[in-house]
Amino acid sequence: MKTTSLPLHHSGGATKSPDQAKLLGRVLPAGPLGYGWIGLHYPVNPYPLAPHIQNAVIEAVRTQIAAINNYPDSDTSVLRTKLAGYVADHARIAVTHENIWVANGCNEVLRQIFRTFAGPGGTVLGLEPSYRYFPVIAEAAGTQWSSVPTRTFPQRDIDAALTAIGKCQPDVVVIASPNNPSGDSFSIDMFEEVLHRLRSGILVIDETYIEMSTKDSAVQLIHRYPEKVVLCRTLSKAFTFAGGRLGYMIAGPQIINALRATQLPYHVSSITQAAAAVIIDRADEILAKVPELLLECERMVAYLQREGFDIPHSDAHFFLMGKFKDAHAVWEAYADIGIVLGDVGLPHYLRVSAGLPHENDQFLEATSNLLDLGKIAL
Ligand code: PMP
Repeated sequence: MKTTSLPLHHSGGATKSPDQAKLLGRVLPAGPLGYGWIGLHYPVNPYPLAPHIQNAVIEAVRTQIAAINNYPDSDTSVLRTKLAGYVADHARIAVTHENIWVANGCNEVLRQIFRTFAGPGGTVLGLEPSYRYFPVIAEAAGTQWSSVPTRTFPQRDIDAALTAIGKCQPDVVVIASPNNPSGDSFSIDMFEEVLHRLRSGILVIDETYIEMSTKDSAVQLIHRYPEKVVLCRTLSKAFTFAGGRLGYMIAGPQIINALRATQLPYHVSSITQAAAAVIIDRADEILAKVPELLLECERMVAYLQREGFDIPHSDAHFFLMGKFKDAHAVWEAYADIGIVLGDVGLPHYLRVSAGLPHENDQFLEATSNLLDLGKIAL
């Protein structure tokens, strides 16, 4: 394994999120100040699929069931072509099926990239704070995880990050934009700076939340750096398909072929392929809900800022809320009344993901009550 003298963090990984672990066995109250169960901890799209789209998915799956004795298309050709069309339309850039690879969720895409381009003995580097499963996925790929801490959090110290990348020369740099849990986005200029510092490694830009972002996708970089840039995306968030498990990557054909060469045969089931194809066909209709969700998020942020909370700017439908003396104690205070927020390992901030409007109303009301009761110390 490679070692480094940089001030990097190495993680052994964990399979259960702190929220899940803390909720196990807890009986959530209903009653005075009890909200039963409001989960604002997962940054998914809270709006379910419209009934007519659900029916279209069921029909597509029904057709597959009639031929379920056969293996699925190992090349996932229909899905790759549809996704290429979606990406090209939205980025106004030429993208074909040769630029797309799909798997069962972005997590699987990431594992395959880490395995193929870093693997045992290699290093994957990320910037803190970031997606808590990056180190877990690196471990699953048998790879060393290193991260550059952000000492100026919630501001980013980009210069320090670039210096660390230049010194470490990892096999893979992974950066989520918008980032989870902080919601901040990185500029295309910053990505180019990373690329200039990487001698042979690749840059993975995780665009899981791109549909929520006001920023342009970095997809143009795949043509400028066809052997060095990979984007990964998912249908889990804006597309409301987290349970369906479909993620994809966008890259130059050489990178795509390297991944296809190491994929398991028939890795995406015919049911997943058929259901996901319906979701992509209905992209415009499904994504029309995103502005509503973002308005809800803005409404929550404005209210919380008036109440005196620190909310670093977010470019997604979730945000960090602080600055608490003890974020874990505040998490407990909310959980005690049936509201679950994201405890994302930051000592002074919790992550809040916009829910349905009535859930957001209850969360805001509960926040005022907890402040009045002195249960939130800022
Ligand atoms: N990357 C980031 C930054 C995420 O936040 C998530 C999900 N929370 C993923 C990847 C994984 O997405 P998927 O459901 O497609 O595996």
